[in-house]
Amino acid sequence: MKQVATVRLDEERSVLTGDLDSLKMAWAGRRNAVALTGAGVSVESGIPDFRSDCGLWRRFDPMEYGTLECFLHDPAKAWELYRELGATLQGKEPNPAHIALADMERRGDLKGVLTQNIDGLHQAAGSRMVVELHGTHSSLHCLGCGHVEPFSTAFLQPGPVPTCPACGQALKPNVVLFGEPVREAAMARTLMERCGTMLVIGTSAEVVPACLYPEEVLQSGGSILEFNVEATVRTHSGLGPNGVLVQGPVGRMLPLFLKQLSS
Ligand code: NAD
Repeated sequence: MKQVATVRLDEERSVLTGDLDSLKMAWAGRRNAVALTGAGVSVESGIPDFRSDCGLWRRFDPMEYGTLECFLHDPAKAWELYRELGATLQGKEPNPAHIALADMERRGDLKGVLTQNIDGLHQAAGSRMVVELHGTHSSLHCLGCGHVEPFSTAFLQPGPVPTCPACGQALKPNVVLFGEPVREAAMARTLMERCGTMLVIGTSAEVVPACLYPEEVLQSGGSILEFNVEATVRTHSGLGPNGVLVQGPVGRMLPLFLKQLSS
């Protein structure tokens, strides 16, 4: 692994420690900062990521149940995952990381958030510029005729697959399955314009094309501030000239980052 400046959590004193000067310098020199978030930002809200040692992803391999092919060939099987995931998302609230990102946007320190998440927690925290690359679980849509309707708890009940009231085809959550193109690519492009600093937060940065955005920032000479509980593939391939890994639970790290860097 390349040598990467790293900031950690001092649990006892509840402060960030380590290469703080590098972090301060990187943040002071930020250019059009944008955040790219993944499942890890919502783990502290109680929504497990793919790696979490939890029943959901143990029973439903995303590469088996979360594909377009699965939905098209066996919608009843795909709906086993959609129901469990839908139940998991019910009643979840933004955590301090979502709130810190909304604060940063309000202060003018962040242009917006590109998220791979489908849980709507950035918007719930008050973020206004949110690009949902993988869609949202809050509505259902019909691939046949384009009908869209809100997700309701009625869909969580076991039973036949919900069908489109207009054309009778199986409905699917309005999320991007493996095998489908990302959403809002044009909006993402606009947000990425002149971005020289990217906060890569709680993502393994392995899902294409989301993982290409940090690459783009690096190629234009920019840097990455990575927030993760552990080093990732991204860390190992480099974070740019002023890059820093902020290692720890992001619900603790981001508020401390805000507090220590704005004082
Ligand atoms: P991932 O599961 O591949 O990776 C999650 C990353 O977050 C890991 O690198 C992990 O180390 C890190 N992480 C876990 N807890 C953390 C914490 N408390 N603080 C900081 N980092 C933490 O997720 P991904 O990269 O987003 O990609 C997988 C796909 O999973 C995406 O397409 C996304 O749509 C989907 N997904 C979304 C949700 C959601 O909407 N909340 C939940 C699960 C999966």
